[in-house]
Amino acid sequence: MVTSDFQDLHWLLDIIQSTDVGIVVLDKGFDIEIFNRFMQVHSGISPEDAIGANVFDLFPYLEDEWFKRRVNTVFELGIPVYTTWEQRDNVFDFDLKLPIHYETRTMFQNTTFVPLHSATDQVEKVGIIVYDVTDSAVNRSKLELAKDELLRLSRTDKLTALWNRGYWEERMNEEFSRSKRSNHPTCLVMFDIDHFKNINDTYGHQVGDDAIRAVSRLMLENSREVDILGRYGGEEFAIVLPDTALDGAMIYCERLREAIANNIVESQGQTVQFTISLGIAVLDEQTRYPTDWLVNSDRALYRSKEHGRNQTNVFGDITPEQA
Ligand code: GH3
Ligand code: MG
Ligand code: MG
Repeated sequence: MVTSDFQDLHWLLDIIQSTDVGIVVLDKGFDIEIFNRFMQVHSGISPEDAIGANVFDLFPYLEDEWFKRRVNTVFELGIPVYTTWEQRDNVFDFDLKLPIHYETRTMFQNTTFVPLHSATDQVEKVGIIVYDVTDSAVNRSKLELAKDELLRLSRTDKLTALWNRGYWEERMNEEFSRSKRSNHPTCLVMFDIDHFKNINDTYGHQVGDDAIRAVSRLMLENSREVDILGRYGGEEFAIVLPDTALDGAMIYCERLREAIANNIVESQGQTVQFTISLGIAVLDEQTRYPTDWLVNSDRALYRSKEHGRNQTNVFGDITPEQA
């Protein structure tokens, strides 16, 4: 840098002092040469204490490979290095002065490490420029949360909070491929509430809706975290049971069937009890497409309906004439 006279240098120092970004200059031994007002205000460290001190004595948390590697890269390669708040919240862990405005107490920073060359073009010092980007970081985090929430809403059924048909089918397709690759046993269950029209006709739709909600609650209570629970249609439900062979799926279905049959729904001053019919399809070699798997479990479900309802049937136990 060429300055015309000493006055210019003075102005430059004033600018460094009053700018709204943090400026720190380090030498090769990590000792501090410049520590501007932004840094003083946010760290609470006076220039007398900062200038000449080792940066690790003032900020012990910087003594890690991450920080040293960055500074040394700039010294060795002579090129700038950038870090954004997405990679690491900040370099200097400053508390916000006015945390009431934000949901965070710490300052988010983007930081640039720049090489400062001597007259002989050697990298003599490293300048660290710190930008306070808390505002945009907080706004971005809020946007991400809103996006997550929107995605969740687009995937869930309003009445029950189970996965809706579209997303459940996506997950079922994934599980189909995963199971085909890994050869882990996987079962698909479909079930339908028995004589549901009677519930609606006798007690009204409100009670019908509460019955559907009760079913989803009992499904959740009787399932594992990895099971994929969906509301497939009005009062039809579908479940993928990953890593579950037929005997396990049968135990699952019978436990759920009994839990629902024994449950009394109280709604609108009425009490309602009802049953479900279930069908299981094991994912076997003959099942070539996800739709086959679905159709198979539906066939097994209809066999349960034909044979008196309130029971579980397995696809494959059905002979071609019966199907
Ligand atoms: P089945 O034992 O053969 O299954 O007899 P069903 O009466 O249950 O017959 P079906 O499965 O065909 O009946 C579905 C009925 O469920 C039709 C519709 O009125 C009712 N339904 C579907 N979705 C909802 C819902 O969200 N709320 C309410 N209250 N009723 C619904
Ligand atoms: Mg029904
Ligand atoms: Mg139905």
